[in-house]
Amino acid sequence: MENRTELDSLGEFELINHLTQYFVPQHETTLKGVGDDAAVLATGGSTDQVVTTDLLLEGVHFDLMYTPLKHLGYKAIAVNVSDICAMNATPKYVTVSFAVSNRFSLEAIEELYAGMQIACEKYGVDLIGGDTSTALHGMTLSITAIGEVYPEKVSYRSGAKLNDLLVVTGDLGAAYLGLQVLEREKEVYKATPSIQPELIGYDYVLQRQLKPEARVDAIQFLDDLKVTPTAMIDISDGLSSEIMHLCTQSELGCDLYEAKIPVSPDVQRVAEEFHLDATTCALNGGEDYELLFTISQSDYEKIKGSPHFTVIGHMTEKVSGPRIITRGNEAIALRAQGWNAFNA
Ligand code: ADP
Ligand code: MG
Repeated sequence: MENRTELDSLGEFELINHLTQYFVPQHETTLKGVGDDAAVLATGGSTDQVVTTDLLLEGVHFDLMYTPLKHLGYKAIAVNVSDICAMNATPKYVTVSFAVSNRFSLEAIEELYAGMQIACEKYGVDLIGGDTSTALHGMTLSITAIGEVYPEKVSYRSGAKLNDLLVVTGDLGAAYLGLQVLEREKEVYKATPSIQPELIGYDYVLQRQLKPEARVDAIQFLDDLKVTPTAMIDISDGLSSEIMHLCTQSELGCDLYEAKIPVSPDVQRVAEEFHLDATTCALNGGEDYELLFTISQSDYEKIKGSPHFTVIGHMTEKVSGPRIITRGNEAIALRAQGWNAFNA
């Protein structure tokens, strides 16, 4: 009898590792292949090239019942640019491929592209190609982003050193709460279509969910401050799971201080309304697209005055593992509850 292993018996990362384990890079120019936010390729010139790709599926990654197509176009570019930023690189080019059913009109796809164009202008990237197809059902988007970075500035997930400080940009948890608001109003609408959605007072969390920004600005601030992160990752799946990636790949542990996690007053308020803990939203929520990075302690003076960066912990010995130090001063092992493509 043939073996059959269910895909959801593996995590997303186990699956990727399993499938790619026997692909050995054949070119010396492949400086980093599978396993980071983007691949890094030597060009022979003064900069290396970084490449990343993301797939966005209707019904899995976005719901067109509450996602305006213009916002979707913007977000699709932003999330790819975010992975370029996570390498401490500058985004330059994107390719955009899509497949849509005849449910969509030209005007609808124009809206999608209008959002993409705004993002391309904002992030300084050129649309250089793609592919277009009809589909039996729904909408699928596939975007590839290419950027460049000076070899001495590239930040891998694996570069953190013992005692390095753990730093995050912006604030966390809002995108997840924005999704909760949208899902709630969708249920209300499904039950009673005549009721207008109640979205007033939720501007911040909705904007964070529907129109996230890639932190190209933070990469520039770091450059201005002459700080090169020792390791970096973008927060797409939640702080907890991204910290675990940094720890695993850097072969270290880390102490994260709950009290230091940046959470906006809006997140506090909306979390309470949903009977959720704001820290849990920040740890496990995902889709904030902020940057999580480590710096040498000697760089602390350079970033400490900046409103864009918050030190939330430090790297420890591997045996300690990734831990969260609660407000009550208890050390608890971090668990990754990041978004999992197969059993979400
Ligand atoms: P991110 O969340 O930063 O976009 P992912 O979790 O999607 O990163 O992917 C982790 C790593 O695995 C990346 O280096 C990505 O290129 C690689 N990867 C993901 N899916 C595949 C696949 N099907 N084949 C080869 N590599 C993959
Ligand atoms: Mg990433």
